[in-house]
Amino acid sequence: MVINRRQFLKAIGTCTALSFLNSDYALSSDKPNDGLREVSFYKKLQDGVVQCLICPKHCRIVNQGRGYCGNKLNDNGFYYSLVYSRPCAINIDPIEKKPFYHFLPGVQTYSLATAGCNFSCKFCQNWHISQAKPEEIKYFNLSPTDIVEEAKTKKIPVIAFTYGEPIVFYEYMYDIAQLARKHGIHSVMVSNGFINKEPFQKLCAQLSAVKIDLKGFTEEFYQKYCNGSLQAVLDTLLLLKELKIHFEIVVLVIPTLNDNAKEIKEMCRWIKNDLGDDVPVHFSRFCPMYKLTNLPVTAVKTLENIYQTARESGLKFVYLGNVATHYAESTYCPSCQKVLIKRVGYHIEENLLKNSNKCPDCSTIITGIWNIEKK
Ligand code: SF4
Repeated sequence: MVINRRQFLKAIGTCTALSFLNSDYALSSDKPNDGLREVSFYKKLQDGVVQCLICPKHCRIVNQGRGYCGNKLNDNGFYYSLVYSRPCAINIDPIEKKPFYHFLPGVQTYSLATAGCNFSCKFCQNWHISQAKPEEIKYFNLSPTDIVEEAKTKKIPVIAFTYGEPIVFYEYMYDIAQLARKHGIHSVMVSNGFINKEPFQKLCAQLSAVKIDLKGFTEEFYQKYCNGSLQAVLDTLLLLKELKIHFEIVVLVIPTLNDNAKEIKEMCRWIKNDLGDDVPVHFSRFCPMYKLTNLPVTAVKTLENIYQTARESGLKFVYLGNVATHYAESTYCPSCQKVLIKRVGYHIEENLLKNSNKCPDCSTIITGIWNIEKK
């Protein structure tokens, strides 16, 4: 089935699931493709080789070759993104699904992704797109203007770069975020944090909030299970703090691999001492996935022990994820323990921070962006 662009834009208004996974249609566009977009950060080496400077992998790419993330091409010494204006996943999701709990609770996000990733996590939940080459999956032709116009038309106040790894579609993300800001729309990034300082600083000027997946707390884990590096991610978190951008951290707790009590304690201590005690930290339940189907689902008891450890370490806003109806989904005042935002899954049952950033009982200031007007 082929649908035109107008039909597609209408259809996604009601879309709530990752439709690309079982989509059986291709899309046509009423606009020609704008052509390939040159990568923003790279340098030319000798003999037509280029070196990508977007992320710490610093790939060196020969003519007609691609970097590790697979969605950029060296064409005769010029390095191009193959996914600019080519999202492969678009959905409208609640912000809680990203998850952001201290950023505009209850709003909808216009969420999108392209193919490719600079990690290859063995537990990836979106491996169908993150580990795919652009030509291996279906995509849509949607320019930054199309995306922003659509968010505006549907009155969606936040665009979220998510599902896969937005760092590898840097140029598309940057242009959307820059345009969105001009139209009063927020942009948020959900990322592994594996990015170089210069591109990240430039990008942050256009973002309202960032969620970082802290996948473990040892270099060994990052190398063995993600093909990445811990230190680069910690550096990104430190930079976020320095830039004063709202950010939250998610840790996917994988049985036997990163749930060691000592490691969790060290992680919490580092977050508190180096980032601050008011950073929201979400410990999320693992479900067997991709290359780790041999492991069990994380036990709720393990998550509750981690919650306790994190609170005892001094972190004020600790959450458990993928455990619907659990008390640790809600936001509590760190001073008087009043329930400030009552959540059930992605649903907000009560929000006492709608009009104020203070606990109504004891006036403690609660870190976050609670009001749509404040960007
Ligand atoms: S963004 Fe992709 S091509 Fe560039 S350095 Fe990272 S993995 Fe390599």
